[in-house]
Amino acid sequence: MSDKNPKRYTVTAALPYANGPLHIGHIAGAYLPADIYVRYLRLTHQDVVFIGGSDEHGVAIMLRAKLEGISPQEIIDKYHELNKDTFERFGISFDMYHRTSEPIHHETSQEFFLKLHEQGEFIEQESEQYYDEEFNQFLADRYIVGTCPVCGYENAYGDQCENCGSSLNPTDLINPKSILSGKKPILKTTKHWYLPLDKYQPWLEQWLLEGKKGKWKPNVYGQCSAWLKAGLQPRAMTRDLDWGVDVPLPHTEGKKLYVWLDAPIGYISSTKQWALDHGKDWEPYWKTQPNEEDNTRLVHFIGKDNIVFHCIIFPSILHAHGEYVLPEHVPANEFLNLEGKKLSTSRNWAVWLHEYLDEFKGKEDALRYTLCTILPETKDSEFTWKDYQARNNNELVAILGNFINRTLVLTHKYFDGKVPAKGTLETIDEQVLSKIQSWPDEIANAIENFRFREAVSFLMDYARMGNKYLADTEPWKLIKTDVNRVQTILNLCLQLTANLSVLMEPFLPFSAKTLKDMINLSDPRSWEEAKDTDILKPGHLLNPPVLLFEKVEDNIVEEQIQKLHQVIPAATEAQEETPAKPDIVYEDFSKMDLRIATILEAEKMEKSNKLLKLKVDIGLDQRTVLSGIAQYFKPEELIGKQVCMVVNLAPRKMMGIESQGMILMAEDKDGSLVFVKPEKGVSDGSIIS
Ligand SMILES: [Zn+2]
Repeated sequence: MSDKNPKRYTVTAALPYANGPLHIGHIAGAYLPADIYVRYLRLTHQDVVFIGGSDEHGVAIMLRAKLEGISPQEIIDKYHELNKDTFERFGISFDMYHRTSEPIHHETSQEFFLKLHEQGEFIEQESEQYYDEEFNQFLADRYIVGTCPVCGYENAYGDQCENCGSSLNPTDLINPKSILSGKKPILKTTKHWYLPLDKYQPWLEQWLLEGKKGKWKPNVYGQCSAWLKAGLQPRAMTRDLDWGVDVPLPHTEGKKLYVWLDAPIGYISSTKQWALDHGKDWEPYWKTQPNEEDNTRLVHFIGKDNIVFHCIIFPSILHAHGEYVLPEHVPANEFLNLEGKKLSTSRNWAVWLHEYLDEFKGKEDALRYTLCTILPETKDSEFTWKDYQARNNNELVAILGNFINRTLVLTHKYFDGKVPAKGTLETIDEQVLSKIQSWPDEIANAIENFRFREAVSFLMDYARMGNKYLADTEPWKLIKTDVNRVQTILNLCLQLTANLSVLMEPFLPFSAKTLKDMINLSDPRSWEEAKDTDILKPGHLLNPPVLLFEKVEDNIVEEQIQKLHQVIPAATEAQEETPAKPDIVYEDFSKMDLRIATILEAEKMEKSNKLLKLKVDIGLDQRTVLSGIAQYFKPEELIGKQVCMVVNLAPRKMMGIESQGMILMAEDKDGSLVFVKPEKGVSDGSIIS
């Protein structure tokens, strides 16, 4: 970020589709980093508006409505309310959480479209588009799936491949298929309005490739430069749909604005509504102001699947319009995985935020903290419940909570909850005081540069320093001999605690509030006060301490892991398929010795809840095979079954026993296992080829 602060900040976080609840992947992608950033800016007294809202248009909403058998309006009402409430409960502190179904948004989007139309920016063009004959409907965007021409992923959508992030047109897809009928669509002529991205390419190259080089995160800059290298094509800004913002031109019945034209404009209409509600002027937050140099800093927090829309398409639209500021930063995150797998709404492989908030009351900050430490800032990262437990128990409870609790308990015990005065300072005290003055800048610098993982690790190090200071000075020993010294030590610890209550606020707002109440410090504070070595004056009376963080026990974590594995897959959207492996030649295949075998004996392995020990007859001989299927089958069910086996897999020792082969299983989409077996009984040892 530049050395100088701008006049104001407009911070946006991606508009979630109002077609489903929020999960931790959404939160780690955009909302938590945006919230930390905004809370920090507010503490530094910047003029900042934090904008969000529901994206209530687009095919995803219509598909969801079809699936639930209700109207799109009912879908958006349901999920807008749920998600707005969930964000609030999790402390995501939007100034405005708006919706794109509101009239003010339709008007704003139409004004944009008309302005561009009047300037002659669009190319009007008839073209052949996919059409589902059975449903009498053009197939826009997500109504059509097929193989991605870039990465080969089989369930790419008509507008984007979610596997590689490529932005696509439906006609790019290999083997296109209608989501509605499941059939191959036909091509039919229709007219649309195209944004000539190729025309803006030279400008984009200058603005983006030259202007943002070294300033934007490498993952974001890299994606953008790859698109520009590949060359931009005109992109249709209208669709044949019956849900969305009407195209504001005559004779365009049945045509709507493309959702990725209207959704980012949703940030603007949301700001307009906020300004109306608060008696403010929205324009300086979006439009370039005369006589102001670096007036408004526009920052978009998004996940990596939205990079093309925020870094190429939306800036082109703003640029074409001419009156708007352009994004200064787009700190997009990569994806968060869950327990070793991709988060998936359709497979219900997710931690749903509203469920977490119901089940873990008072533990909002434990999840905020864990997610902050694993934000996928530069590459994909992973959430596991064990890690969540460890972060909570070993860091929040054992380091941060422990330091604060010891400080407050000792102050109440020795000085009746009154802040003692400091006396003569020793070297160790001077060291702590100098850290108090420099540490907040380290955290601030990390936040300003969108390195939130680093920022939160500095925060925890700050508490570690407090613990070390307590351990080195041992006031509980000195109290018998040197009360004056203990007064100084606890005074310093209390200043650290008060400073922490300010530094914690962006990351752990709930605990920061509780802590301020405990130390009787009014809210809100300012970031500068985190450097104050006398924030709590001698004689200041503290309130009784309560525990800021509590341990998460093993059984709680086990339950969550169980819950994750019990979920029933809702085969609602296109399932994510595992991509096919690369081709092999026949010689590769023929190296495998595959045969039919019969299971003769089966027993559980001691000390393993995964492995069964099987004795099998493969015709040639009888041998022992260990199979990781104990969670799916009882040993007694298996005896006498005929199965397919790889008999020449090199023997492998597991838990002291050699496994001499491998039984073939098929894994269903829900993770359950079934045997692959001959359709009727055959002799053991029959060769499979
Ligand atoms: Zn792809």
